[in-house]
Amino acid sequence: MRVGFVGLGAMGMHMARNLHRAGLLTAVWNRTGEKARALAAELNVEAPPTLAALASDVDAVVTCVSADADVLEVVRALAPSLRSGALVLDSSTVGAETARKSAELLRPHGVEFLDCPVSGGTEGARDATLAIMVGGKEEAFERAQPILAALGKAITHFGPTGSGQAAKATNQIMCAGIIEAISEAMAFARAQGLPLEKLVDTLGKGAGSSWYFVHRAPNMVRGTFPAGFRVRLHAKDLTICRDMAARFGVALPVVERMLGDYAELVARGYGDEDISSTFRLKAELFDATHQASHDIQ
Ligand code: NDP
Repeated sequence: MRVGFVGLGAMGMHMARNLHRAGLLTAVWNRTGEKARALAAELNVEAPPTLAALASDVDAVVTCVSADADVLEVVRALAPSLRSGALVLDSSTVGAETARKSAELLRPHGVEFLDCPVSGGTEGARDATLAIMVGGKEEAFERAQPILAALGKAITHFGPTGSGQAAKATNQIMCAGIIEAISEAMAFARAQGLPLEKLVDTLGKGAGSSWYFVHRAPNMVRGTFPAGFRVRLHAKDLTICRDMAARFGVALPVVERMLGDYAELVARGYGDEDISSTFRLKAELFDATHQASHDIQ
């Protein structure tokens, strides 16, 4: 199978390398062409000048770009030049509706589309241990196995087109609630004057623990929030969740609250910090109360 890769960002660069290791990668393309030319020279694969040129010479394309409009732009450029029977696998985090539109754009050309968003961060992309949530036809999922196996470990087909993105959106809502609860709890604990390192160590073994508590509560103890998972990226994902819920006439409280907090953090210049910087806002709740009672005295 000849595979092309589009979108050599923080995730895509690693994923392309893993496809190369599996002997599948034949061409790469990136909007900023220099990145693609450098990787192609290193791996001894093609760096065609256009998406159309890449599309005409492969059996499958994996894309990993930023947001909804970017996926549709790339799919539109690929579609006319792909051969009938080819596959497009999109691993960007976008809305389920974008996945369905992409499938529609490709269908007249006899090309199958799989939404394949991933979880596991740049470490998971590097180590080929990503969790991959797939939507699309079962037959296309079976054909894509060699590609998916080169990129990740937990690979699950959830159903028709868009269901991979729906599963990823579910994950992003959980992350929102968990990080909010941890931030609030840690701000509370600090106000109580508790020894925070001991607290993280002890509660990390308790029923309220989670990956986020163990790995990100220490950021709150130190007061530094290096990325991680950037505030602006999670805000983009929660906007997707908001739109998907709105189709049912529903506004999800956790999503709405976190979008408000993230907008505040971005406005203050913290958009590129890890999402644990939500702690900044929760800590201020107590600081404000403390200040108010001080003012009263
Ligand atoms: P980056 O910002 O590092 O890379 C984005 C890539 O997309 C770049 O190669 C960029 O090209 C390309 N791109 C953006 N817009 C377009 C466009 N209109 N046409 C063509 N190419 C475009 O992002 P990440 O690699 O971190 O993330 C990629 C996707 O994966 C996102 O949807 C993200 O939400 C998701 N994701 C990210 C995770 C992470 O931990 N970073 C974890 C799981 C999912 P150029 O080089 O020219 O800018």
